[in-house]
Amino acid sequence: MTPPAHAQSGHTEPGRIVIAGLGPGAEDMVTPEVQAALATATDVVGYIPYVNRIKPRSGLVLHASDNRVEVDRATHALQMAAAGRRVVVVSSGDPGVFAMASAVFEALEAGPRAWRELEVRVLPGITAMLAAAAAIGAPLGHDFAAINLSDNLKPWALIERRLQLVGEAGLAMAFYNPRSKSRPHQFARALEVLRAACGEDTLITFARDVTKPDQHLLTVALRDATPEMADMRTMVIVGTRDTRRVGTYVYTPRFAPGHQPRHQPGAQPASPPAPPSAVPSPSQSDQKED
Ligand code: SAH
Repeated sequence: MTPPAHAQSGHTEPGRIVIAGLGPGAEDMVTPEVQAALATATDVVGYIPYVNRIKPRSGLVLHASDNRVEVDRATHALQMAAAGRRVVVVSSGDPGVFAMASAVFEALEAGPRAWRELEVRVLPGITAMLAAAAAIGAPLGHDFAAINLSDNLKPWALIERRLQLVGEAGLAMAFYNPRSKSRPHQFARALEVLRAACGEDTLITFARDVTKPDQHLLTVALRDATPEMADMRTMVIVGTRDTRRVGTYVYTPRFAPGHQPRHQPGAQPASPPAPPSAVPSPSQSDQKED
């Protein structure tokens, strides 16, 4: 039998690896759980701008990489963890949303079997989509889809198809990595597809540098949206045909257009109220949060 990774490396404790989300930017949006993991880490691994957010201290080695091949960075982190270091891999936002958590599992799957002895913990963070939605109101209050507009790991034709189908299905959409210098024309095409699938009047919000000092929010109708409104520091949220403004806020109602809610305080119930019972009625049990 192959000895566990820590035994091979001569260390007495099994290594552990934490994959942590640092939130969208504001320091008070780093969860206490992530702060605690960073406080006991020996090594922090990540892309330069995220590692730069970590305060240096003695006993902590910062591995800031400009390497965009996430799986290489993940492999390096796993090697250190297997050698007994307490490694924290950092991502912005949430590590499971277009970020390092999947890269670490890809590297784990491809690596030596002994790595599977490592303790892996994924600590969630506030993803940019949720911070952006909160900043403008509640545009994701009904069903929605989160889509990465980068064609680095999937073909552009697939992205266009998804935009079309999700738009036609009437879901709101949140776009990560909307437009970069290396692919300046694709976002213009994305806007064309969205106009056709969602209608020209649908609201689109550009939320740049959310929770940071330069935060900037702009909401327009799809007809007036231009590609220059987005860059790689922007989260783009397209509403449904029902998404609307109230004052300076943008929100999507919780119900589908034309649908009569089954249970609403103050509304006439469609059928007589059920007798009290220990078993919750469907209207109480099938929706966790109201
Ligand atoms: N794991 C990250 C997403 C990484 S993809 C998360 O959960 O948030 C990087 C993309 O996220 C950027 O191109 C941008 O679209 C979005 N993003 C990240 N931080 C942002 C912020 N503070 N404001 C606006 N968009 C942000």
